[in-house]
Formats: sequence, C-alpha cells, structure tokens
Amino acid sequence: MTETGTVVERHDIVVIGGGPAGLAAALGARRAGIDDVLLIERDRVLGGILNQCIHDGFGLFLYKETISGPEYAERLAEDAAREGVIFHTGAMVLDLSPDRVLRVNAADGYRLVRAGAVILAMGCRERTRDMIGIPGTRPAGIFTAGSAQNMVNLHNLKIGREAVILGSGDVGLIMARRLTFEGIKVRGVFEILPWPSGLERNVRQCLQDFGIPLELSSTVVDIRGRDRVSSVIVARVDGSSRPIPGSEREIACDTLLFSVGLIPENELSKRAGVVLSPLTGGAVVDETLMTGVPGVFSCGNVLHIHDVADWASFEGFEAGRRAAEFVRGRRSGAETVEVRVGENIRYVLPQIVRRGASGVTLNFRVRRPMRSVAVEVREAASDRILTRVKLYRLIPSEMRQIRIPTSVEDALEIVAHE
Ligand SMILES: Cc1cc2nc3c(=O)[nH]c(=O)nc-3n(C[C@H](O)[C@H](O)[C@H](O)COP(=O)(O)OP(=O)(O)OC[C@H]3O[C@@H](n4cnc5c(N)ncnc54)[C@H](O)[C@@H]3O)c2cc1C
Repeated sequence: MTETGTVVERHDIVVIGGGPAGLAAALGARRAGIDDVLLIERDRVLGGILNQCIHDGFGLFLYKETISGPEYAERLAEDAAREGVIFHTGAMVLDLSPDRVLRVNAADGYRLVRAGAVILAMGCRERTRDMIGIPGTRPAGIFTAGSAQNMVNLHNLKIGREAVILGSGDVGLIMARRLTFEGIKVRGVFEILPWPSGLERNVRQCLQDFGIPLELSSTVVDIRGRDRVSSVIVARVDGSSRPIPGSEREIACDTLLFSVGLIPENELSKRAGVVLSPLTGGAVVDETLMTGVPGVFSCGNVLHIHDVADWASFEGFEAGRRAAEFVRGRRSGAETVEVRVGENIRYVLPQIVRRGASGVTLNFRVRRPMRSVAVEVREAASDRILTRVKLYRLIPSEMRQIRIPTSVEDALEIVAHE
C-alpha cells in the first residue's frame, strides 16, 4: 500500500479484457510457464462479446465443433480458471502508462498494478449513425446491430415490429435472422458497397434462407418519424458511393439497425504511447504481436477486426506465449523492417518484422472480391519473390494468411493480382 492508501500490486503478465482473445492470451502465458498471470475484465462475467452471441457457429477451428458464443466463452474461461489464471472481474482499467503501470477501478477500490508485460485485448466498439452522417430526425427505434443484439438476447426485449438494416456486416446479417425469429419483419438489408461486407455463409444462412432481401450499392439517405421511426428513404449509389438522384424510395418501418463497421477500442493503447495503424485502427505490431512500446502486446479485435472468434483466440495464445518470452528476457533483435501494403491489399499484419525472423505468417485482407488470385510477398527493394500462393477466390470480409518460408532480411511488400 502507498502512503495515500492506494493498493499497489505487481504481476508478471497482465491481460486487459476477458473476451476470447484475452482469455486465450492469459492461457498462452500460463502454458508458457508464467505463474503470475492476471486478467482484468470490466464486466462482471468473462467472455466479452460472445455472451450475447447465442447463435452457433463458434469454435469450429479451436474445438473442432460448432457451439454457441456463450458455450465457447465458458469453455475458455473454465480452462483459464483451471490452469491458474488470476481474474479481477468488474474491474476497469482506466489508464496505462508506457512503463506498464495500470490504474484500475474495482468495486473494492482503486489500485495501481505494475506489470512485467501487458497484453491489450479490449475488443472493439460499433460505428454509429453520427459517424457516417445520416441526416433526418432523431426518433426512438434506431440501434446499432450489437446493441439490438444485447437487448434481444440478454434482456429479452422486443425492439420493434418492422426493421430495416443498414450495412451488411456480420452482426447485421446475424441480427436480420434473429429479428425474424422474434417475429419482427425485416424489410431489407441495404449495403453501400457493391458486395456484402459480411461472410458469405452469413449472407446465405441469415438472409437467403429466410427470404430477406439484400440490396447492394444502396444506402439510407433520410430517417423519418417524430417520436418513433416511421420510415426511411433508401437510394441507390454510384461508383463513388454518392446517392443517385431520382432513385430514392420510402420504406415504412419502426426500427433501423446500423451494422456499418467496428472500431478497435484503443483509448488505453494511445495513453501508453502505442502507435496505431490508419489501415486497421489497431496497434502497429511486429511478428511477436508486440507494439512499439516494449512489453506491451496486442491481440484480438483491439488489434484488427476478426471475422471469426477462433482467430482472435489463436492470436491471443500467441500473444501470451510471446509476452512470456519478453518477461523471461528471451527476446532479441530490435531492428525491424517494414511490411508494405501493395496492389489490391487492404491491410497486412504484422506491419513490421524483426530482421532475421523466420517462419513469419502474414494476415491480410483484400480490397475487393477477386478470382484466380496470385498472392505474393516480395522484397520491396529487389522485387525478389519470397513466397507465392494461388487462391481460387478472395473476398474483403475474409482474413487470409500467407507464411514466409525464408528468414526476413529486408522490407517486404504483399500484393494480390488476378
Ligand atoms: C455481434 C457479434 C456477432 C459475432 N458473431 C460471430 C460468429 O457467429 N462466429 C464467430 O466466430 N465470430 C463472431 N463474432 C466475432 C467474434 O465474436 C469476435 O471476433 C471476438 O469476440 C473478438 O474477441 P476479443 O476478445 O478481441 O473482443 P471482445 O469479445 O469484445 O472482448 C473484449 C473484452 O475487453 C473488455 N474491456 C474493454 N476495455 C476494458 C478496460 N478498459 N478494462 C477492463 N476490461 C475491458 C470488454 O468488457 C470485453 O469483455 C461476432 C462479433 C460480434 C460483435
């Protein structure tokens, strides 16, 4: 305890966030032999966003079966408890300093936590109406897809009678099906891009199987209603995403859901001095998932938005293992080279690699749907191709991986071409 009465704790590794990434990170650190691993979660229960995802489709890669979100969270949390992870739930990290001191507010008081290494696993938040600037009145009946999911699945509320969904992200697609189960008529899903932003399996299983229309290259241009939404105006858009005059039509509804993107939750990371990538919204990391701040690692949706929870967990296991190496002082070689985004690539992760690293795997997403694609990783200066794979199909919603078989000595570029 300090003179002012603040409790001070010291732990080898502290994980912030108890979703599928954070739980896996804590397990990864324990399995790498670190005894003292603390996980801090602001919610009263562990599991993160999975607790409200009561549909199945989780765990195919990690558990080799499909289970619901809460089941997936429960298994991971049970493993973490059994394997000796220490939990502080109902505790919110308010601040993180570059020298890895956390300020934490919990029911039993305020404390300072000093960490040998920190793993950021705070997840993401949803983009809102304000962020995309949809004009119109401000009546009741407008929700983000995730908040609607929370109300319906966790609080058993009926949020309306007739709904329109703007954006075809996975959460919106899943909610189109969920609202239909709840007896709410979904009048349509409208997507500004010429392709769906969510996974193909969700378009099939959540819209097509229920006869819910998906209109691409379309958006909501006005919201009408005084106390409650009474209708929305939708319009087609041109190649620059501008509404086409004369294409407007009115759709009666009392509910509008926004599924227009997720934003990594990096306020704490910025406080610690972590540099963020404008392409992912998450930290710039090397191949060990360490950010530019020594001893601070990042994984899951706070690092980049994952399409599947299993990948967030796999990344968590790796972050835990790498943080354990750091704590043991087994980390070497600070000089890094850049991995550049080339033709048709939206982003790549890691964005930097330590010179001499071998067996590095790059995660990437493409900018547009592509067929018969060659993905190449080249040395940027010499154009020498280090690895090349042929893929039948690539879509922007799917994260893909490519492994570099040789050691990395110079700056790289990743490209995709048909
Ligand atoms: C609505 C929705 C539906 C989905 N459906 C599927 C699906 O069907 N199949 C599938 O495989 N994937 C699905 N996903 C994706 C998957 O759920 C995510 O990829 C995964 O949950 C990301 O895990 P995470 O641990 O990074 O983040 P989260 O699960 O969001 O966990 C982050 C945790 O950090 C905590 N936290 C944040 N800040 C602090 C702080 N300052 N102090 C303490 N704690 C903090 C939060 O409370 C939260 O518990 C879905 C995602 C969403 C949003």
